Amino acid sequence: MKSYEIIDHTYDVVVVGAGGAGLRATFGMAEQGLTTACVTKVFPTRSHTVAAQGGVSAALGNMGEDDWRFHMYDTVKGSDWLGDQDAIEYMCREAAPAIIELEHYGLPFSRTPEGKIYQRAFGGMTTHFGKGQAYRTCAAADRTGHAMLHTLYQQALKHKAEFFIEYIALDLIMEDGECRGVMCWNLDDGTIHRFRAHQVVLATGGYGRAYFSCTSAHTCTGDGNAMVARAGLPMQDMEFVQFHPTGIYGAGCLITEGSRGEGGYLTNSEGERFMERYAPSAKDLASRDVVSRSMTIEIREGRGVGPQNDHIYLHLEHLDPDLLAERLPGISESAKIFAGVDVTKEPIPVLPTVHYNMGGVPTNVHTEVVSPTADDPNRVVPGLMAVGEAACVSVHGANRLGSNSLLDLVVFGRAAAHRAGHLLKSNGHSHKPLSADAGDNAIARLDRIRHARQEIRTADLRLEMQRTMQNNCAVFRTGEVLEEGVSHMTNTWGKMGGLGVEDKGLIWNSDLVETLELDNLMYQAVATLHSAVNRQESRGAHAREDFSDRDDDNWMKHSVIWVDDKGESRIDYRPVHLQPMTNDVQSFPPKERVY
Ligand SMILES: Cc1cc2nc3c(=O)[nH]c(=O)nc-3n(C[C@H](O)[C@H](O)[C@H](O)COP(=O)(O)OP(=O)(O)OC[C@H]3O[C@@H](n4cnc5c(N)ncnc54)[C@H](O)[C@@H]3O)c2cc1C
Repeated sequence: MKSYEIIDHTYDVVVVGAGGAGLRATFGMAEQGLTTACVTKVFPTRSHTVAAQGGVSAALGNMGEDDWRFHMYDTVKGSDWLGDQDAIEYMCREAAPAIIELEHYGLPFSRTPEGKIYQRAFGGMTTHFGKGQAYRTCAAADRTGHAMLHTLYQQALKHKAEFFIEYIALDLIMEDGECRGVMCWNLDDGTIHRFRAHQVVLATGGYGRAYFSCTSAHTCTGDGNAMVARAGLPMQDMEFVQFHPTGIYGAGCLITEGSRGEGGYLTNSEGERFMERYAPSAKDLASRDVVSRSMTIEIREGRGVGPQNDHIYLHLEHLDPDLLAERLPGISESAKIFAGVDVTKEPIPVLPTVHYNMGGVPTNVHTEVVSPTADDPNRVVPGLMAVGEAACVSVHGANRLGSNSLLDLVVFGRAAAHRAGHLLKSNGHSHKPLSADAGDNAIARLDRIRHARQEIRTADLRLEMQRTMQNNCAVFRTGEVLEEGVSHMTNTWGKMGGLGVEDKGLIWNSDLVETLELDNLMYQAVATLHSAVNRQESRGAHAREDFSDRDDDNWMKHSVIWVDDKGESRIDYRPVHLQPMTNDVQSFPPKERVY
């Protein structure tokens, strides 16, 4: 360990990640006077949140009647009854104040003619408990995430949070079952940093890059989830991976659901608007799992478009070109660049593409990480919080509704700040002891991977993992195909020891970064496959052809999975919270299958 220069820091709070969730938590902490560091591997405004297009939900009722209870019902139903209703109530109630707050911070929302925040239709968003179409998704054209991230970063700077940019968090510092800090590597000068804190907040985003084709950035490698696994803590509901219906065929880039919200529709090779058959009332705006499965069935049954009959068309050419230019400028550009299509004249070739991870680090409604024991399913891990896509709070359950993630980021980012403020006021500010070897585990892992001298290239092994996930853990699943995936992944894990990292340096060593990220992705690939084999029912995004019904008697429970450093896993369960937080709304009991 002597070979590394270690620099120590002490803060009240360290936030890992500067996407929407991390930034909202960061400045919320700083605003309360807590000394706060935000560590991020990319420049804050390059976090994946910047790519969010369609918008952020809130029942403001600017474009027709709306109510947070309708939003709550839709979210519970969209989650296929796996979401925790206390957390969902909290998110939907807090949505309107959270959006107004963003408006006051300066987020440049699109406007209605009267000057109110513009709201568009999105899949699964209804009024009167499923009866009407809601206009609930607040948008800044089709660049809402971009606008949000810049607004939040400005707030963080205003409140003087300290940023450690292009620092890679390696592992948590755990002592006596509590989190006391986090170890990081500064890419710029190769130094190692030991951050000591009362609370570490993981806001490291999703792990879309475990798959071959996904809409997420190359940095979405779920580093926080893997750090949690290595700390001996579980991940939750990892079998639920959302496929977005409209990734551009071949490139994977996203075409927002907002395009269907503005009137776009899908057709098959017969020119049929097939969603009318699968979801007669919601049609093209049915929830994402429903649309992705319908598209897959059309392609499988030979009605896909293109020379190979392997994709679907999304039509926008019937829409007013002025509306496309004003409301959907970004996707018009993406379609031109990545599919060579002029959206005012021809349809866009699209295919369901991995988009969002409903699973992640289990937390309670205050964003504190939980790790269940035999007598306490909600046992809190002191010193550790998780927010955003990395977390599973769980508001999205088995399937997330479009525009509910950006909302999740700001509502729970803020909740983390409130909770940390409260805990620090009641527990005092003296730091708990750190043992002399605190952080050595992180350095040992870095050392092992850095000095790996074998033959296998990181990119080759990553491709092997991504192909297995794409082929064996896709939109439709069967026990047999999943088992085959498990066996491939065990084989891939076995090859990890055969990796070779050519560059041994510590300054901007992207080979080493990618190998650390691959190591992180492997924990999540294993967790996703094992959880998917284990869940013998179909719910939300998890569609088993061999168990095609939702089975509330046996499976209305969260799966939690521990993965150890040999790639072996253990599964247990936590109950779904069916009780809302207050008496203002009744619990929504399980109803008919969404599909
Ligand atoms: C193309 C696209 C469009 C989307 N559109 C919408 C939409 O319109 N509406 C909606 O609600 N949702 C949308 N989503 C989903 C939503 O954008 C994401 O779920 C959300 O932005 C995730 O935010 P986050 O803050 O959790 O993480 P991210 O924005 O992914 O940020 C992760 C942060 O963690 C940091 N980090 C990660 N690992 C480490 C490490 N080891 N060390 C240090 N730092 C680390 C990164 O630097 C980064 O700052 C979209 C997603 C995609 C991919």
